[in-house]
Amino acid sequence: MTLRDKMQQEQQAKTLYKQAQNYAFEYADEALVRNVFPSGQALAELRHFDEDLPENSGDAKAILEQLHQYGSPASVAQAGGRYFGFVNGGILPVSLATKLLTDFWDQNTALYVMSPITSKLEQVCEEWLRQLFGLPDTTVAGFVSGTSSAIFCGLAAARYRIFKNHNWDFNQLGHSGAPPIRVIASSQTHGAVVKAIALLGFGIDNIEWVDCDDQGRIIPGAMPALDNSCIVLLQAGNVNSGAFDPLQEICDNANAVDAWVHIDGAFGLWAGGTKRLAHLTEGMEKAHSWSVDGHKTLNTPYDSGILLCRDKDALVMALQASGAYLNFSENRDGMLYTPEMSRRARAIELWAALKYLGSDGVDELVFGLHERAVQFAGELTSAGFTVLNDVVFNQVIVAPSDNDETTQSILESIQQSGECWLGSSVWKGKKVIRISVCSWVTSEQDISRSVQAFIQARQSVCGK
Ligand SMILES: *Cc1c(COP(=O)(O)O)cnc(C)c1O
Repeated sequence: MTLRDKMQQEQQAKTLYKQAQNYAFEYADEALVRNVFPSGQALAELRHFDEDLPENSGDAKAILEQLHQYGSPASVAQAGGRYFGFVNGGILPVSLATKLLTDFWDQNTALYVMSPITSKLEQVCEEWLRQLFGLPDTTVAGFVSGTSSAIFCGLAAARYRIFKNHNWDFNQLGHSGAPPIRVIASSQTHGAVVKAIALLGFGIDNIEWVDCDDQGRIIPGAMPALDNSCIVLLQAGNVNSGAFDPLQEICDNANAVDAWVHIDGAFGLWAGGTKRLAHLTEGMEKAHSWSVDGHKTLNTPYDSGILLCRDKDALVMALQASGAYLNFSENRDGMLYTPEMSRRARAIELWAALKYLGSDGVDELVFGLHERAVQFAGELTSAGFTVLNDVVFNQVIVAPSDNDETTQSILESIQQSGECWLGSSVWKGKKVIRISVCSWVTSEQDISRSVQAFIQARQSVCGK
């Protein structure tokens, strides 16, 4: 039998797909109850993947079986309710189901002619996001892999526009001999912003750093004088404290001198899509570009980042696309707004999430995360732990001890319990435990159970 015949049989019989579905359903049940982090045994069993590249075509069923037997237990159960590490979102059932269906479509979203349905739903998402966030009518959206990529696009657009305003065509002329661009960022800027600055050739040493207050918000009075060569980087959602920069005041100052403002709101921008937390992002609509993830706060599947930009020309020119064979259309051609040409149809899962939730649902989802974070902080405080930040959004910073080594031991003890999973960070020079409440699944019981894990870990490390 040829390889083609074999695959055709698999395609027609569909038993493989059904097998994958059975495993997936088994996993979905398991993920909610099992230990959050893989057990030591599960990690050791990863040795089953240490194999030579086979010479002959394998058995598809056996491949799936191996993956489920040794892969599923070695995954992190972040679809469950007690994963608080990094800022990783859960997954909405409607978006997961949409992904299952559209995986069968396997659409390439570069051009309208490659996938009219994806082009349509990208256009709908763009319009809905504009409405939800109250952004200017000219705002366009690029659907990229994550916020890192979105920031890169926003800053590329900024660079294009600022140079253009100084009669410098960056695409043609590049950096050599170009007029200077100033980059202004808070001392609490996320590493993904620093990465974009480095990639785009601005130079990390050239960043004009601005001091922050005790919550990690940029201090407006500490800003340098701005001019029309400036790119100002603000955050909606500090990755440790969840704090929001004072967007309104700084955007007003930047707009008065024609400086470009980019707001990195990877997880926090969604506050601006709610009713009850919108005060946190007041003035955000006055910026020029925004980066946000679907896969964090909104709980769409990975990977789903969004770049929003009010200056379509600058974005499209900065990401410049050319090629005689590209049939651009009157409709939306997605590749004009992204660095990639070929891309999966991630906007469809975002569309499903937004359609399912509606604006009230976005409010309920995001405010729910905030309420759980407030509960977490409250119960920890009652148990004698020190919470270091004002819990304005979904992030909680805990210092279980003044001693970094003790904090690390308590953290490891919690992680080893398998009850919940959290990571660490450094806050004001001190090692801390960082909690991010990011999944719709997380219940009040999940929080209380996780607080118990804190108490038990402290007991086993400190004996009290
Ligand atoms: C997560 C995060 C990023 C990076 O986003 P990715 O989707 O992981 O690329 C950037 N900024 C902030 C504030 C974040 O929380």
